[in-house]
Amino acid sequence: MQYEPVIGLEIHAHLQTRTKIFCGCSTAFGAPPNSQVCPVCLGLPGALPVLNRQAVDCAIKAALTLGCDVQPVSVFARKNYFYPDLPKGYQISQYERPLALGGSLAIAAGGGRRVGLTRIHLEEDAGKSLHEGFADSDRRTYVDYNRSGVPLIEIVTEPDMRSAAEAAEFFARLRDILVWIGVNDGNMEEGSLRCDGNVSVRRAGQQAFGVKAEVKNVNSFRYMQKALDYEIERQIDLLESGGVVVQETRLWDAAAGRTVSMRSKEEAHDYRYFPEPDLPPLAVDAARIERVRATLPELPDARRQRFVAAYGLPEYDAGVLTQSAALADYYERVASEAGNPKAASNWVMGELLRTLNDRGTTIGLVPLAPQALAGLIRLVDAGAISSSIAKDVFAMMYDTGRSADEIVAARGLAQIDDEAALVAIIGDVLAAHGDAVAQVRAGRQATFGFLVGQVMKASGGKANPKLANQLLRREIERSA
Ligand SMILES: [Zn+2]
Repeated sequence: MQYEPVIGLEIHAHLQTRTKIFCGCSTAFGAPPNSQVCPVCLGLPGALPVLNRQAVDCAIKAALTLGCDVQPVSVFARKNYFYPDLPKGYQISQYERPLALGGSLAIAAGGGRRVGLTRIHLEEDAGKSLHEGFADSDRRTYVDYNRSGVPLIEIVTEPDMRSAAEAAEFFARLRDILVWIGVNDGNMEEGSLRCDGNVSVRRAGQQAFGVKAEVKNVNSFRYMQKALDYEIERQIDLLESGGVVVQETRLWDAAAGRTVSMRSKEEAHDYRYFPEPDLPPLAVDAARIERVRATLPELPDARRQRFVAAYGLPEYDAGVLTQSAALADYYERVASEAGNPKAASNWVMGELLRTLNDRGTTIGLVPLAPQALAGLIRLVDAGAISSSIAKDVFAMMYDTGRSADEIVAARGLAQIDDEAALVAIIGDVLAAHGDAVAQVRAGRQATFGFLVGQVMKASGGKANPKLANQLLRREIERSA
């Protein structure tokens, strides 16, 4: 029997604000436990929430980027449940009237098919239970409320994905975009981006959806695909052996490589949602939407297309260079300073990305200014240094912070264009390789290449390759 998986995702993304959503506490990650708390985010009696405007603007930014309809009025609601990391006994979220509806995001799988979005709503994060890392962790769980009240958006997709690979691709694309527009830092290890998957399977050709299970907190791309694939197989096996899938929440156990039942899935009415009495409805007028829209950066797709059109780059280059906004910015500065977009692309995609990768660092921390790299490209274009020497100069620039001009002058790396100097070097090479010279005269072109290599080597890589080539040919003929 053939089965078709049906997957929808719920993504929680921390918004990059300095302060929490309903109080002035810091959102910085990594502070000592319970050092960033106040009566509001601890849920103390009488403390009242005040909505952080920045968080709303961030959420609007995400909604506009994803093509959602930002609602003129949305309403905060209390989602009631008990958990030790939730001191108020309820989470302030949005329920019946979320901030934004609709929208979509294209994935490459299935030829650029669009995955629909159901909604985006604002909510506060809960604190964090610490089950490990204390001397008495076998008996006690500690709670850190620093995360309590950190602003989140929850992005809910339609059940539009048909494989774990599609879901993983969607999540990766969404992450790239949220990071690109500066709404989220994309840091899954620190929990600022989290993903739950709703998975069901149905017989091929069947219209109705099967019963779904929710797979919680699959927080790396690698595990996400594994967890969803496991869950799909589990449900198919269950149905094939005559069982039924029950609606439940399951946790991915990375060590065991399987999902395990966590609790029966709650229904919305279990949470006794009701409008938050301490916050007025959130009104977002057209002027505010336009003000936020004006702050949106050029998006990756548009930027990629512009790189192809404006700089004449191949699609491949444009795709690599627009992996992040920081890399694209860096490239554009190099290209404009150097006046040679394709050479700039080759250097950024080649030596620069390779070096960043080797050093385990990122473009945001690169010690080499775009102007400096452009200076190196100009030296190559002017014929002052050979491209192989330029690679050595690049490494020295990266490590010392000195300019290409300085390094070339200090180390005597300038290209040898002087005919007399080259003829002298060639004379030595011909004298040392009489057999090879004889072979070239007998018509073996490959051996000519060998002699060119010897000349370059003897010149310390500094010989002007084109000139060396011409002179070498001339000298071989002359000596015949
Ligand atoms: Zn607080």
